[in-house]
Amino acid sequence: NMDSVQEKPVYKEIAPFAEKIRTQHENILAAARSRQDFTANVSHELKTPLTAISGYAELIENEMVSHEQGIHFAHEIKRNSERLLSLINDIIRLSELDHSEMPRQYENFDLYEFVKDCAESLQVNAQKQGIYFSYRGSACMIRGNKDMIRELIDNLVQNAIRYNKEGGHVEVFAGMVDGKPRLEVTDDGIGIPKDQQDRVFERFYRVDKSRSKETGGTGLGLAIVKHIVELHDARIYLDSEINKGTVIRIEF
Ligand code: ADP
Repeated sequence: NMDSVQEKPVYKEIAPFAEKIRTQHENILAAARSRQDFTANVSHELKTPLTAISGYAELIENEMVSHEQGIHFAHEIKRNSERLLSLINDIIRLSELDHSEMPRQYENFDLYEFVKDCAESLQVNAQKQGIYFSYRGSACMIRGNKDMIRELIDNLVQNAIRYNKEGGHVEVFAGMVDGKPRLEVTDDGIGIPKDQQDRVFERFYRVDKSRSKETGGTGLGLAIVKHIVELHDARIYLDSEINKGTVIRIEF
């Protein structure tokens, strides 16, 4: 009869809700875990330069220090302070992005024109570090926040310079490809191993910790880039080969 037919599907009907609750619960747990990881990483990353600073200061305070040693210690204190400052700046930036929704100051603009406007300062920066910079492309309109797009380009070009070789090349492309606006930053630098390509967008993940620190990297640059890409409803792809180079592609 009709009654029993209607009763039976009850479990079937609530099952999808139970499943939804379960996955939501798992997501909340995962988010909490990743927040804990992030806090632990932040503490560790801040401690390292601070310990160095206080160590060098203590040496100067307690020991007979030669003039040369004094200069060396001061240099180390300065270097570690700068490192601390860029870490704090990037952490604050990430937290701002975490709490911002779609940026309000959105405008329609030509990405290629924008790259052209940025080119001079990018070029100067690359030249200082012994890298050739060029750009190419053609008109392509996007809707976005210019400050954020600037930040994104700066971060990607900085990486392309940082993880390059003496005399290497960096090229920025902006244009329409298959009907979609696209931004590409290409370098012929050291590349990223295949098995680590997914991880470089994680906060504080670095392929080579010592190299990244030497060149002033915080491990947060690509996390910031990914955030900005998401705020623009765009997608980011990475293609890289060891010793050949890296292409980062963003489709709007
Ligand atoms: P960092 O501040 O250390 O550069 P990022 O988040 O910007 O941190 O990048 C994460 C890691 O990805 C870097 O430490 C580096 O190992 C690798 N990486 C990023 N961009 C490139 C690139 N263009 N070529 C080679 N490796 C790169």
